[in-house]
Amino acid sequence: MSAVVEDTTVPPQVLLAHHLKSLKLPTFAREYEKVAFECVRAQVDYPRYLLRLCELERIDRDRRNMERRIRQARFPQTKSLDTFDFKAIPSLNKSLVLELARCEWIERRENCIALGPAGTGKTHTALALGLAACQRNHSVLFVTAAALVHELIEARDERRLRSLQKQLAKVNLLIVDELGYVPFTAVGSELLFEVISRRYENGATLVTSNLPFDEWTSVFGSERLTGALLDRLTHHVHILEMNGESYRLATSKKRARKASAIAAPDASGHGHTEPKGGATDTD
Ligand code: ADP
Ligand code: MG
Repeated sequence: MSAVVEDTTVPPQVLLAHHLKSLKLPTFAREYEKVAFECVRAQVDYPRYLLRLCELERIDRDRRNMERRIRQARFPQTKSLDTFDFKAIPSLNKSLVLELARCEWIERRENCIALGPAGTGKTHTALALGLAACQRNHSVLFVTAAALVHELIEARDERRLRSLQKQLAKVNLLIVDELGYVPFTAVGSELLFEVISRRYENGATLVTSNLPFDEWTSVFGSERLTGALLDRLTHHVHILEMNGESYRLATSKKRARKASAIAAPDASGHGHTEPKGGATDTD
């Protein structure tokens, strides 16, 4: 039987720090002394002392994982559903969005497509659903359709297409934003098609587009390829209909109305009492 030989020349704190580091328990290492003092004072027994440290490590680890997921997702901004005003977009099915934020569709490897004109909150919703996925420890990648096609072509030219395709196939949720603004070359279309094809029933994909499905051919060029892509993408799909006025336009119009009411108080009769700003509220 092998025995652990205690090295009496090295202080136990140093050895402990070393072991905890190699076991990847940084919170344990940071907190054990402080928690020990607290437990002595509160007369907490050893199992509860260790339990407290374990809980702290787990909480910290979950937070670190979430932060790593968010960094790896490459979100251009942080947006959440807390700041999304559903009243501003009545065509959007709020309960479906809240359901999607629970991420079961990602576990089922389904798809989601948000459709609507510019400024209606498609990117905001996609970012919020991406963030929710990171919070549930799913791997996420956010990319615009144009950037993705650019990356794929670059990877092909540099002979590392296979490894990029593998990476794109592996991620739990791939968000492809802004499909429709830039038409692709034939090669670009085929490369993007391959990404969607590989992900079919293997991972969840969220696409946002300003174009209705019957106009997607104008982006992909080929009717046959568009048909095959839509076939895969829409097999298990949640559609978010986001038809309405641009949120930016609506809020700046509202701001302008408020400003003119302040400038000409006689016209409204009570314009001078209007507070400045607060243009994001909806009636
Ligand atoms: P889209 O992607 O549909 O063009 P965005 O999601 O980029 O639109 O929205 C444009 C701006 O308006 C963003 O700053 C976004 O946060 C904001 N926005 C859009 N819709 C809403 C909404 N319903 N509630 C709060 N902010 C919104
Ligand atoms: Mg957008």
